[in-house]
Amino acid sequence: MKKLIAGNWKMNGSLAANEALLGALAQGLAANKPSCDIAVCVPAPYLAQVQALKSVQPALSTVGVGAQDVSAQASGAYTGEVSAGMLKDFACRYAIVGHSERRQYHFETDALVAEKARAALAAGITPIVCVGETLAEREAGHTEEVVKRQLAAVIHANGHCISEIVVAYEPVWAIGTGKTASPEEAQAVHAVLRAQLKAATDQSARVKILYGGSMNAANAATLLAQPDIDGGLIGGASLNAPDFLKIIAAAQ
Ligand code: 13P
Repeated sequence: MKKLIAGNWKMNGSLAANEALLGALAQGLAANKPSCDIAVCVPAPYLAQVQALKSVQPALSTVGVGAQDVSAQASGAYTGEVSAGMLKDFACRYAIVGHSERRQYHFETDALVAEKARAALAAGITPIVCVGETLAEREAGHTEEVVKRQLAAVIHANGHCISEIVVAYEPVWAIGTGKTASPEEAQAVHAVLRAQLKAATDQSARVKILYGGSMNAANAATLLAQPDIDGGLIGGASLNAPDFLKIIAAAQ
């Protein structure tokens, strides 16, 4: 399966910084045609800018644009929320749902994340469903149980179209810490998630399972060489064009 390298810019960027970053990315992609899928998940206010830059930079034409969250609601009195329909208006192909930062700082539950995935799918947007354990959960031996519970909620709410999602395994203790799961640790969890998807759909082989958490230019190749690691969800390193390009090159 084609790998997917997705950048999650988080709450970073500015009009000037985004233009510089995507310009450098375009140059790199023009020089070295990638054979993996690529996406950038950007803050909602910059979706229009990123689409406009794509339309003038042919080398960016294959870069999918994504949002970092989506409302579970379709429209109405939900101040501050952005609906899947609005994201679709800006040609969003992906929406991250259930990122641990949203679960942690915005108290998003498994059920809400599942509804968000459902709203995205209904609008024709691919949800990138994040799952992952905290350090305390890992140390208590609960990793498998936690990621299975998180994914089960999404499967339960989206059974018939579950093969349309992307899953991202992001151990919370590896996010932004410089501490990556070892390829073996990550592969073990990916295999658990793959088996869970297999039990849910006969199309499970189509579902990409990304790894996220301090993936960088130096460690990407060994992580991506694991049989059940189908790509990466990249935070910090996606803000640096040379680093992001190296990860893309490692995913060929
Ligand atoms: P870092 O790559 O900065 O650790 O972030 C990972 C992440 O949370 C991507 O969604």
